[in-house]
Amino acid sequence: MTTLTLQNHFVSLENFGHSLRAPAYVFKPKCDEDIAEAFRLAEKMGLTVTARGAGRSYNDASLNGGGIVLDLSEMNRIVSWDPQTGRVTAEPGVTLQKLWQHIEPEGWWPPVVSGTMLTTLGGCLAANVHGKNNFKMGPIGEHVIEFTARLPSGAQVTCSPKKNADLFYSMISGLGMLGIFTSITLQMKPIQSGLLEVSARPSHDLHEHLTDLLDNAPNYDYIVGWLDATTGGRGLGRGQIHAARYLHEGEDPNPQKTLQLKNQVLPARIMGVFPKSIVYVFMGPFMNNLGTWAVNTGKYITSLPRHTFRQSHAAFHFLLDYIPNWELAYGRGGLIEYQSFLPKETAEAAWTELLGLSLRRGLPSYLGVTKRHRPDKFLLSHAVDGFSLALDFKVTNGNRAKLSQMLQDFDRIVLQAGGRFYFVKNSETTPESTVGFLGAKTLAEFKKLKKRCDPDGLLESNLYRRVFA
Ligand SMILES: Cc1cc2nc3c(=O)[nH]c(=O)nc-3n(C[C@H](O)[C@H](O)[C@H](O)COP(=O)(O)OP(=O)(O)OC[C@H]3O[C@@H](n4cnc5c(N)ncnc54)[C@H](O)[C@@H]3O)c2cc1C
Repeated sequence: MTTLTLQNHFVSLENFGHSLRAPAYVFKPKCDEDIAEAFRLAEKMGLTVTARGAGRSYNDASLNGGGIVLDLSEMNRIVSWDPQTGRVTAEPGVTLQKLWQHIEPEGWWPPVVSGTMLTTLGGCLAANVHGKNNFKMGPIGEHVIEFTARLPSGAQVTCSPKKNADLFYSMISGLGMLGIFTSITLQMKPIQSGLLEVSARPSHDLHEHLTDLLDNAPNYDYIVGWLDATTGGRGLGRGQIHAARYLHEGEDPNPQKTLQLKNQVLPARIMGVFPKSIVYVFMGPFMNNLGTWAVNTGKYITSLPRHTFRQSHAAFHFLLDYIPNWELAYGRGGLIEYQSFLPKETAEAAWTELLGLSLRRGLPSYLGVTKRHRPDKFLLSHAVDGFSLALDFKVTNGNRAKLSQMLQDFDRIVLQAGGRFYFVKNSETTPESTVGFLGAKTLAEFKKLKKRCDPDGLLESNLYRRVFA
């Protein structure tokens, strides 16, 4: 990117759920110096800058209407990998897919992954993503040994839990608003087999669902629930729990085989025939209240028998990647996700109220996912000693305003119950709810760091303007 100009770079970008749109000047840096040059251009033109990884955030985290967006997908080299220690150094645009496929055949797995493998390491650090093992392994930031970042001031910083610790704990979770990660060193986790042992069992209501997550998480490495949010009454909160554990040495008779990539990658066809790439088209007609209720009821009934099975790491973690472009099934208005995090003591009452409200208003979520969490010490943390519930909602021209109002009502319920939100998911979080869950002291601390790293306020996104205004 020498002699950078804005000409021919104006592109309309969307969020993952295709419910938001924002045109921006998009550049694709290939190295750290390109990022510095983009900052200089932004300063000269009076524009703001947002980093973008794979654009898999559900909301406006990597959108910057009218500003510059730095698409880091071409800074995607794995710089070094040591299979003796499990230490990997990579550029920020490396996806989780590229990472796990590089290390898994040698008996390693990323310690924390998101529910899709298409996210980048930079995006994962900026959001501080959690996996289905959050209760045990914390967020991804806890496995970062060191990172370097380019600040808008032009300076380069290297941070670890011991070096520039204040920046370490704030840039991870900092939504790319303090600086841009340029190199990331992570510790991977050893695995003895390419398979996990998964226990699947039904939960008949919300109480049973949350009790299972709470009581059984300590006995497993991963735990996650599917929640049918289309059913109320005595079935409110019903669903299915999947709990998984690593296989110990000797439990897999042929680990060399199960660790092979060909036994991990998700099949491109269903039953070897039907191409998965068009499945979303057939999902479309069911994406309404009645259709989803029928599908969920069928899924719940088939989930009633308890069973245990073995599944590849990729299949267990990246279930959502099984159906490419599934989000398009939501139609032209797209979808938004609302994820709330609640302390274990208040979760059941708050979510009973919240799920009931969505049913009464005729706006049920079509997909609900629960997880067990523990707190962490990153500045803009979303975690609690409790649970999270992620709910996907279909957006249409007809329901947009009503949905927005309902999600703000959800915020009030969650805040009253001592809950928190996840900045890269929720689309309706306001400055008031942000102060409500982060607290004025944390926000003041973040703003102080922002002033230090970005004195001219170059780094801004639509999300930043929305929640930190
Ligand atoms: C299907 C699906 C499943 C998901 N499952 C989970 C899950 O299980 N757990 C979870 O925690 N999240 C989950 N997410 C959310 C997702 O992991 C986060 O939104 C993640 O940040 C997306 O990464 P990305 O590379 O696409 O980043 P983007 O969406 O492009 O950007 C996200 C944020 O990171 C910033 N950023 C990107 N690159 C850099 C960089 N190099 N330096 C500084 N800032 C940067 C952006 O400015 C933005 O603020 C899921 C998302 C999807 C679509």
